[in-house]
Amino acid sequence: MKSSLKFKDLGGDFFAHVKTQKLEDTILIHINENLKQELNLKVTDKDLLRICSGEKQLAKESPISSVYAGHQFGYFVPQLGDGRSCLIGEVGGYELSLKGAGTSPFSRGADGRAVLRSSIREYLCSIAMQGLNIPTTKALSIVSSNSQVYREHIENAAIITRVAESHIRFGHFEYFASKGQDENVKKLADFVLQHHMPELNHRDYLGLFKNVIHSTAIMIARWQAQGFSHGVMNTDNMSILGLTIDYGPFSFMEAYDPGFTCNHSDTQGRYSFERQPSVALWNLQRLADALKSIIQEDQLKEALSFYEKILVKEYSNLMRSKFGFILQDEDDNSLINNFLELLYTKKKDYHQSMRQLLSQQQNTLGDEFDSWFKDYQRRINKEESLNQSVALMNQVNPKYILRNYLAEVAIRKAEDLNEFDEIDILFRLLEKPFDNHDGYESYDSEAPEWAKSLELSCSS
Ligand code: AMP
Ligand code: MG
Repeated sequence: MKSSLKFKDLGGDFFAHVKTQKLEDTILIHINENLKQELNLKVTDKDLLRICSGEKQLAKESPISSVYAGHQFGYFVPQLGDGRSCLIGEVGGYELSLKGAGTSPFSRGADGRAVLRSSIREYLCSIAMQGLNIPTTKALSIVSSNSQVYREHIENAAIITRVAESHIRFGHFEYFASKGQDENVKKLADFVLQHHMPELNHRDYLGLFKNVIHSTAIMIARWQAQGFSHGVMNTDNMSILGLTIDYGPFSFMEAYDPGFTCNHSDTQGRYSFERQPSVALWNLQRLADALKSIIQEDQLKEALSFYEKILVKEYSNLMRSKFGFILQDEDDNSLINNFLELLYTKKKDYHQSMRQLLSQQQNTLGDEFDSWFKDYQRRINKEESLNQSVALMNQVNPKYILRNYLAEVAIRKAEDLNEFDEIDILFRLLEKPFDNHDGYESYDSEAPEWAKSLELSCSS
């Protein structure tokens, strides 16, 4: 099967051709079968392993790694790029990218590899986000190997195959703008318009920027409503299509805490949970700076002024749904805020507490919630149909969340015992997180004592 890759039409300023570097004793440890079907990828598992480990070429041309720049923790880095990932081809309108298949000219001295531990986390989080209706890059497969890589300890290398309509980041535009290559900024914008925003007119650069603002605002609103913390919101980790991309030290919040910072290396809390909405706006401003040669400044500014409105509207709809509110009541916002305040002071689990609202007949949240719960009952009884409210709540309050300890159990089994069944269990629960899965009730439990001190840091 030979496919071509549109991104390469952009020309040599945008990427370098690379050769994937072989890993030892590779095993296909999981496949996203639904995605494989959606892509209409008709290959045997044996061939899939060869393609997804970089041994067999998918496209006519060799893989490519692209160059981009980015603001990392507030500071501009003029050249980054796909240091350990490469696009291998396009299938069914999606780009396939291998993460961890070796070095590229953009590796900056690093080894081009990804460790099994972080690959399992990215693989599982990709399906978890899909299950939660949060825009994300997807993951087709995970391949493990016996090749060793050196981090804090020696670890096994792995490769995930990432799938997205486009892997273009804000940083791609920043790279060309910072070099004063306005023609390439325009070329890239034309490419995005033509291939990813066909509903817009040719050269509607402002329309493109408005689309990025809109999709970013929706993505962030959904992160906030579902307690997702990305951890490394640098502009090179922001997708032009508003997809969650580059999973590193991400975490779903457990005990509710707006100041929660999942990345252990982020000592200033720059990317804390509550700052995500304003950081995304700051990142959009950096994208606006990079688009100044093709969009007038007053238009960029005006477009940015809509970001907050879009975000607040989406967030508010989701939060109201979580509480089962269909009618509008003037006290709804304060009722929701009081609940979050209580969760924070009582260190209650965000997701479990939301699920407990579903048993609306009695307060199962604890005595501290008595008074709040009475107000809530009064409010929910105003709804025309309690059943309808409960149905709505069941669609937005997940039973299953990718808690760090659950991922850790799957990682331990894979690393220590070469057993991958736990990955499959989590995959199936997270793919449909709002459903009941008989026999897997314990997977919705809060973290056990041993897992409370798990720490996550930047890329690995
Ligand atoms: P991240 O924060 O994981 O998105 O990575 C930031 C930059 O470092 C990106 O340009 C990555 O491609 C690059 N990078 C991270 N880890 C490696 C690695 N092991 N080898 C080569 N490049 C890497
Ligand atoms: Mg990155």
